[in-house]
Amino acid sequence: MPDSRSGEPLERPSSTRSGLYDRFGRRLNYLRISLTDVCNLRCVYCMPEKMQFRPRRELMNDDELFFITRMMVSLGVEKIRLTGGEPTVRPNLVGIVRTIARFPGLRDLAITTNGLLLPQIAEPLARAGLNRVNISLDTLDPEKFRRITRWGDLHAVWAGIEAAEAAGLRPIKINAVVTRGFNEDEVVDLARLTLEREWEVRFIEVMPFGSEADFAQSVVVTSQETRRRIEEALGPLYEIPGHSPNDPARPYRLAGARGSIGFISTVSEPFCAGCNRLRLTADGTLRLCLLRDGELDVLTPLRRGANEEELRARILNAVYAKPWGHGLPEGEVPRLRLMSQIGG
Ligand code: SAM
Ligand code: SF4
Repeated sequence: MPDSRSGEPLERPSSTRSGLYDRFGRRLNYLRISLTDVCNLRCVYCMPEKMQFRPRRELMNDDELFFITRMMVSLGVEKIRLTGGEPTVRPNLVGIVRTIARFPGLRDLAITTNGLLLPQIAEPLARAGLNRVNISLDTLDPEKFRRITRWGDLHAVWAGIEAAEAAGLRPIKINAVVTRGFNEDEVVDLARLTLEREWEVRFIEVMPFGSEADFAQSVVVTSQETRRRIEEALGPLYEIPGHSPNDPARPYRLAGARGSIGFISTVSEPFCAGCNRLRLTADGTLRLCLLRDGELDVLTPLRRGANEEELRARILNAVYAKPWGHGLPEGEVPRLRLMSQIGG
C-alpha cells in the first residue's frame, strides 16, 4: 500500500539497511518506555481525577519488559527513557534500571518523573546505572502546584530535585507544561531558576489526548507567547550553538545564566523531521508516533509463543512504516490513549 505523503510503499523492502530506520530515512534510536500507567498525582492536562488504571496482568511483567527492551536495543536503540504514568511507583524500579543499564549497545538511560519519590530512590537509581533525570514542575507556587496536580506537595518535589542532584543524576532537566489559567504567569519564575542553577528548564505546549483532548486544546499557550513573557521580564534569550536536530527543545540562555531554557513546541511548530523516537507502552505495544493512534502489539504475540525472529520482523516492518508526523494541524487528535498510558 503506498503512503499518501510520499507515495512510497509501507512494506519494508528486504534490501533495507539493518537497524531501525523508517521509509523516510529517519533512524529511530531512542525508545521511551512506560513502566506503568499508574500515577500518584492527577495533573489536570494529563488525566481525569477518577482515572481507571489497567489491571496489572495486562502490563508487561519484568521478564517481558526485559525481553522486548533487549530486543529493541539489539535492533538499534541506543537511548532509553523510563516514564509512565509515574515510573517510580513501579515495583522493583531499581532492579529494572540495573538490568536495562547493562544491555550491550545502550548508551544512555534516563527517567522522567514527578520527583515525589526521588528522596528515597535517587541514590539507589544512580548506583544501579541511571544516568539522568527529567523532573516535571509547572510552578513554584505551592497553591498553584496543588491545583494543577490536584493534591501534590511542591516541597516534596523540591526535595526530589535536590536528591537527584546530590546523587549525581545530572544534568537536571525540568519539564514545565504551560496551561492557560493555571500557570502561564509562572514561566518567568521558572526561567529565573536557570540564573543560579545549571538546570535546563523546558517549557512544553500542552497536547491533546483521549478524554482530555478538548480541555487540552482549550488551554494551549504557544511557546512564542511563553518566550515573549520571559524576555519581557528577564531580557533577551540567546541561542546556544550546537543544537542536536533530534532534540525537540532548541536551547537558549539568559545573559549570565548558568542553566538553559528550551521550548517544546509540538503544537505550534512540529519537529517531526528530526524525530528519532519510538514508544513502548506499559501494556507492551510499540507506538510509532506520540500523537497518532497506530500501534504494534508486541506483548500479545510474545505471550502466545511467537519467537524472537518473528517479533523482530514485525517490529522492523512497523518501524519502517512510522508515519511522517502528527495530524494536529489537520484536526487529527489521538483518541486511544492518554499521555500517561503512552509514556510521555
Ligand atoms: N509522571 C511523570 C512526570 O510527570 O514527569 C512521567 C510521565 S508524564 C506523562 C511525562 C511528561 O508528560 C511530564 O513532563 C508531563 O508534564 C507531560 N505531559 C503530560 N500530559 C501532557 C499533555 N497533555 N501535553 C503535554 N505534556 C504532557
Ligand atoms: Fe502523573 Fe506525570 Fe501525568 Fe502528572 S503528568 S498525572 S505526574 S503521569
